[in-house]
Amino acid sequence: MRRSIATVSLSGSLADKLTAIGGAGFDGVEIFENDLLVSGLSPEDVRRRAADLGLAIELYQPFRDFEAVPPDTLADGLRRAEHKFAVMERLGVTRMLVCSSVSRAAIDDDALAAEQLWLLAERAAEHGIRIAYEALAWGRHVSDYFHAWKIVRMADHPNLGVCLDSFHILARDVDPYAIRTIPGEKIFFLQLADAPSLPMDVLYWSRHYRCFPGQGDLDVAGLVAHVLRTGYDGPLSLEVFNDIFRQAASMRTAQDAMRSLIALEEQVGLRMGRTVTSLSSPPPPVVPTGFAFAEVAAPSMGALGTLLDALGFARTGAHSGKPVELWEQGAARVLVNSGSTESPDGPALGAIGLESPDPAASVKRAEALLSPVLPRMRGPHDAPLDAVAAPDGTEVFFCRTARPDHPSWIDDFSEDRRSAGSAGEITHIDHVALTQPWHHFDEASLFYRSVLGLRPHESLELPDPYGLMRSRAVSTEDGAVRVALNVANVSAYDGSHDLAWQHIAFASRDIVATARRFRAAGASMLSIPENYYDDLVARYDLGPERHRLLRELNLLYDRDEQGEFLHFYTGTTGRVFFEIVQRIGGYRGYGAVNAPVRLAAQHVRPRHRSD
Ligand code: MG
Ligand code: MG
Repeated sequence: MRRSIATVSLSGSLADKLTAIGGAGFDGVEIFENDLLVSGLSPEDVRRRAADLGLAIELYQPFRDFEAVPPDTLADGLRRAEHKFAVMERLGVTRMLVCSSVSRAAIDDDALAAEQLWLLAERAAEHGIRIAYEALAWGRHVSDYFHAWKIVRMADHPNLGVCLDSFHILARDVDPYAIRTIPGEKIFFLQLADAPSLPMDVLYWSRHYRCFPGQGDLDVAGLVAHVLRTGYDGPLSLEVFNDIFRQAASMRTAQDAMRSLIALEEQVGLRMGRTVTSLSSPPPPVVPTGFAFAEVAAPSMGALGTLLDALGFARTGAHSGKPVELWEQGAARVLVNSGSTESPDGPALGAIGLESPDPAASVKRAEALLSPVLPRMRGPHDAPLDAVAAPDGTEVFFCRTARPDHPSWIDDFSEDRRSAGSAGEITHIDHVALTQPWHHFDEASLFYRSVLGLRPHESLELPDPYGLMRSRAVSTEDGAVRVALNVANVSAYDGSHDLAWQHIAFASRDIVATARRFRAAGASMLSIPENYYDDLVARYDLGPERHRLLRELNLLYDRDEQGEFLHFYTGTTGRVFFEIVQRIGGYRGYGAVNAPVRLAAQHVRPRHRSD
C-alpha cells in the first residue's frame, strides 16, 4: 500500500515537514492548506521539493462549508473553489478533500447537498480534479460516513467520491461494517488516526488527542480491513491532530508515524488472512518470556547496595571486562553498572534484559519496526547480546539466560559467582516502571506493543500532589513481562519537582518476611500515612491482625476479582527505587489505586543519594 501522511500531523515549517516525511520513507503527503498559506514556498516550490523527496502530493485539504446552502452562498463557494483548483494545479495535486458543512447556513436537505456537490465535481472535472467528501463527526447535518455516501450516490458524478476517516467514524461509535457496501472506486481517500478513549466532546477530542494507529484505543485495523475488502487501492494516509506531535521534533514523529503504519498493515493483514499482498508483513513478534535482568547505572554503589543487601540480594559476580556487578536473588537479577556516563541525578535504570526464545529474531522484528539496534559493545569472550533502544533511551536486551545451547550473558560474570540461592523470599522481577518524557509517551506505548508484542492495559490518570500522572501498563498475556509506562504531567518537568522516577518491582513469596528483613537491616522504607490504614479498615474487613500487620510494615493493599496484592516501597536513590510485591491468587494489576498515596509519600520523604 502507498503510505502517506498529512502535513498537519508534524511540527515545523512546511519545508521541515516535507523533509521529515520524505526522510521517513513515505510515498505521499496530504498538503494541509494552512501549512501552505503560512509558508514562504510557492506551490511550484512545494511541488518540486515533494518530487525531489519522492513524495506524491495525494490530497489538498480541507475545503469547508460548501454544500446545502442558499444560491448566493453557493456562488461564493464555487468562486472559492475555483481559486483552490488553481492552487492545486500549481501544486500538481488532483484530489481535494471537502468536509461536511458545520455552517449555520447549511440546510438539512440531502438532495440539495447532492445537487451542489455535483456542481462542484463538474467544475473540478474541468481541472482534472476529484472531490473526496468527508463526514466530520461534528458536521451540522452530515456527521456519519454512510450519510456522506448516500449523498455522493445521489449526486452520481464520476469526480465525486467519499473520504473515510477512521477517527470520525470510530469516535462516534458508528459501525464501520457498512463500509463494505461502498464500491472501492467510490472511496477516493482513506485517512487514519487513533485516539485514547476519553469521555469528552468529540471536536475537542479530535483536535487535541488524535494519535497514530496503535497508540490509542480505536480499532483502526478493523476499519482498514473493511475498506480494503471494497477493493480500495489508494494510500493509507495518517491525519493526526495532537498537541504533543505539534511540538515534538518532526523527524522523530515521522519515524513514529511510519512505525505505526507498518504495525497497522501487519494487523490488517492478520485480520484479512494475508489476502492483500501489498500489506507489509514484518517478521512476527517474539514474545518475551520473562525478565533476565534490570540494569541500574550508578556512579557508585552507596545507597543502592544498602537497599539490595537489605532486600536479601547477594552480590554474586563482577563482569570480566566491564565495571558491572551482578546482584541476584532467586531469578531476580540486578546489574549495577558503574562505568556508564555520570548521571547528574545519581542512579538511573538504564537497561532491561528480556528473556527471548530467539534473540536474533527479536532484533529482526525491532529493526523491521524501525527501532535503533544498538552496537554490541563486548569483549572477545563475551556472549553475544542483542539490544535495541526504546524511545525513552532505555536499552532493551534480548537474552537467553538458561539455555545450554546458547552462550549466556551470565557466563561473563563467572569468576566470583557464588550460589544465587540466598535466604531471601524474592523470586523474580515482577515489573519495571519507566517514566517517559511526556512527549514520547505515545511513541513508547507503540514501541512496547508493536516491537515486543506486549498487550496494552487500560490507560489511567492518577492524581499526584502536583498534577496528574498518566499511566499505562503493557504486558505479556501470562504476565511474565510487565512494564508500566508513566508520564508525569508537564509541570512536573519544570525543575521544581522531580518525578522522573523509575522503579523495579520484585515479586516476593512472603512479603511480610521480606519487609521484616528489610526493616531489621535498617534500610529506608517509604512510610505510609496512618490515614491510609484508617481508611483501609473502612474499605476492607481483613481482620484486626492483618490490618495491624499492614500498618506496622508500611504495606499497601489492593484486591480485584481474581486475588489480592500487597506491596511496599523502598526509599529512592537517584531516580530509582524498588517495590516489593506479592500477588495472591490471580491479581493482575499494579496497585494503581495506591499510587497517589505512594506519590504523595515520596514528596515528603527525603531522598537518598549515592553521590
Ligand atoms: Mg479527516
Ligand atoms: Mg509498581
